[in-house]
Amino acid sequence: MVIEDKTYNQLEKNHPYIHLIMQIVIISFSIAVTSVSADEVNIYSARKGYLLQPLVDAFQNDTGVKVNVISGKAKVLQKRIKQEGQNTRADVLLTVDAGNLFKAKEDGLLKRISSKKLNKLIPSYLRDEDGYWFGLSIRSRVIMYNPDKVKISDLSTYEDLANKKWKNRICIRSSSNIYNQSLLASIISNLGEDNAEQWARDVKSNFSKDPKGNDRTQMTSVVMGECDVTIANTYYLGKWISSEKDNERKYAEKISVFFPNQEGSGAHINISGAAVIKYSKNEANAIRFLEYLASDAAQVLYAQANHEYPIRDNIAVSKIVESWGYPFKKDTLNLGELGKNNRKAVMIFDRVGWK
Ligand code: FE
Repeated sequence: MVIEDKTYNQLEKNHPYIHLIMQIVIISFSIAVTSVSADEVNIYSARKGYLLQPLVDAFQNDTGVKVNVISGKAKVLQKRIKQEGQNTRADVLLTVDAGNLFKAKEDGLLKRISSKKLNKLIPSYLRDEDGYWFGLSIRSRVIMYNPDKVKISDLSTYEDLANKKWKNRICIRSSSNIYNQSLLASIISNLGEDNAEQWARDVKSNFSKDPKGNDRTQMTSVVMGECDVTIANTYYLGKWISSEKDNERKYAEKISVFFPNQEGSGAHINISGAAVIKYSKNEANAIRFLEYLASDAAQVLYAQANHEYPIRDNIAVSKIVESWGYPFKKDTLNLGELGKNNRKAVMIFDRVGWK
């Protein structure tokens, strides 16, 4: 140490500007380090690769930042980020459902982001109040029905599905799925816990069969006449309409979309969204990627790729999505509520025996 100090003192004598030189060396070194990590961003994505690829390509071309995508199921990716802790390579989590993003925030996986651009581009009800996650596309969970068996005048609200007139006519997926948990969470916010529990109990007593399979299974049951109405996410019908499979296109002709609660709170919506990971090593690029996905140019592609809705009403939707009726009245409940009420929703489903 002493020798080093002596050497340094000697240097200082010979070169009075040594402090300045050292500072320049340090600054250029840190610039070099940042630029090594500045040219990439790692995305852990629960979204299908084909939805993301055109946007990844465009972002890479525009910015020169290399995007690496690791795909997986929502729950698996969140578990992985947790396990990897500080060593994670993940910079961004892309996933579906505000309930999942809320959970990631609660588990301490996310970094608080303050971006004027994101706050301006994304309506406040579609993002976390503390800046931990951001909605990037909207999906609506609506009533789908068999037009041969149900008159449109018989449909009105989610609440009405509790009416005895629907006895043995409803099929819907299991309560273990986050989409139904989030729907019930929104009903808890809008009607209160007691009313939400009564609703779940009554709807369950109208089931024509036990909940089994995903949204598309229930839609198939509507087409096959095993039930008359279901609740499903609109983009699944979009997939059928644009499908290369003859049977799916034929099914699509036998089922219709109804947006409930148009006179009241609006149809239940949810998001696909994104967040920056707490231990991200490429934070600036991660924010840049999120800002890009929220931009007008990306929104057109991002929403249309999966027959979803853009986060701002001034952006065009696909012809298929438009054919169901657009714009419709959306429930603008702050989506953080879906996460906050998730546990209550799961307990209600349990109590009423909605499997
Ligand atoms: Fe889905």
